[in-house]
Order: sequence, then structure tokens, then C-alpha cells
Amino acid sequence: MLAIKIIPDRWWLLVEGVSQKEFFYCIIVVMKAVIIMGPQGSGKGTQADLLAKKLNLFHFDSGQYLRGILYDPESKKDKIIQRERKLNEAGKLNTPSWILKISSQVIKNTAVVKKGIVFSGSPRTFYEAFGREEGDKTKNIQGLMDVLSKYYGKKNISIILLNIPRSESIKRISGRFICSVCGSPLMASKNKYTTCSFCGGKVIKRKDDNKESVIERLKEYETRTKPILKEFKKEDYHVFEIDGTPAPYKIHQTILGKLKNV
Ligand SMILES: [Zn+2]
Repeated sequence: MLAIKIIPDRWWLLVEGVSQKEFFYCIIVVMKAVIIMGPQGSGKGTQADLLAKKLNLFHFDSGQYLRGILYDPESKKDKIIQRERKLNEAGKLNTPSWILKISSQVIKNTAVVKKGIVFSGSPRTFYEAFGREEGDKTKNIQGLMDVLSKYYGKKNISIILLNIPRSESIKRISGRFICSVCGSPLMASKNKYTTCSFCGGKVIKRKDDNKESVIERLKEYETRTKPILKEFKKEDYHVFEIDGTPAPYKIHQTILGKLKNV
């Protein structure tokens, strides 16, 4: 039988091969929360993926996660799912209270296992972020930021804003294909790539990745997502605005540099 003796002021030594400095560094890095925001096609998912691998964070891609729920054959007859699926296919935002309920549960589950988290698709509305409409003084519900602050601490939350021009958004999304299995985006014509270079899965065009839907989503971004950024700055969150047009690895380096100073 294995007996573990706890030495009060040397307890980190129980983690084999890890120094005190490394142990605490590990805790600090792991308990970070990063929100990557930006218009459609700005590379939020790619940057969140790179960051998750580098800092050992859980990547919560709410769009992909929600699509998984919306297109689950088992919940096809569910009235709420049907309503949300229609919104999704029209390029409209899903109902904030519905997203909030799902996101809060994911945050809680991630924090409980002492893991940091990176978001690439939420919050998308003021209500989702703060639990109230813009201009309202009273809260209706705990917003995403309330839940995140509760589990990670406000000072450990960083917001990265990836800026790209509108024309670039439309170009990137209209020409995007994704893998039906792992969700990897592919910027190529379907004739050229029929299978994913990462997992070999079938390459498809997402239903809402067409020009009309992108224009609609950009409109939603301008009117509903941008006010969140204004409020983040007002409430003194760490917000870093980054140019989203260079190569992904360069943007990744820039993000790491910014997070180091938080
Ligand atoms: Zn794949």
C-alpha cells in the first residue's frame, strides 16, 4: 500500500521533479481565462487552438460545441433545439439565455478540474457577457463574466481582440471549408481537397458559410458584439487589440507576449 506523508512547508515536492517555482507557475498558467474576440474569419478558433496547446488550456469553441448540440440526431424533436437551429442556419445569433446556461456549465466543469480556459466564440452579446442588456442597471441573470470572475478571478481574465477588415472577413469565410470530423478549417476549393489533411475526414462547406450569411453575421457582430468590448474597457478588464491579418504563428507570438505581462 502506498502511504503519502504530507510535509506542510514542502508539499509541492510531492509532485515529482517539479520545483516550487515551477509548481506555482503551473497553477498560475493553468488558471488563466482568455477570451478571443473578433469578426468572422479573424482566426479566433486557430488562435485559441494554438494557445490551448501552448498553455494547456481547455478550448471552448462555443460555436462548434453548440452545433454539436443542435445537430445531435437524438434531440431533433426538441422544440428549443429546433428554434435555435433555425436561428443558426439563418446566420442569426442563438438565444443568449440558452447559450449562457450551456456556457456556465462548461466553465464550472473546467474550473473544478483546475484547468484554464480559452474562448473563441463567446460572449457574442452584451446580455450573454454581463447578464443584463446594455444600459440596464439591474442584472437578470449571472453573465458569462460573472461566472468566469467567480471561478478564475477578474484579474486572471484577458480579452484578445483580433482586428481584420470587413472585406477580408467576407473573403475568408466565403472560401472556407471545414472538416466534418475534427472541425479544422481549410482555405481551399472543395475540388482540390476532399479529405482533411489532419484526420482524413470528409471536407464540407458549413451551411452558414456563404456570403449572405457572413454579411448578416458581420452586422450582428457590429451591433451586438462590439458594445461588449466597450464595456470590458469601462470595467477595466485586460483588453489587447491585435492585428489579425499576419500569419497565424506571428499573431500567436504577439498574444503570448501580451499575456506574459498580465
Ligand atoms: Zn479533420
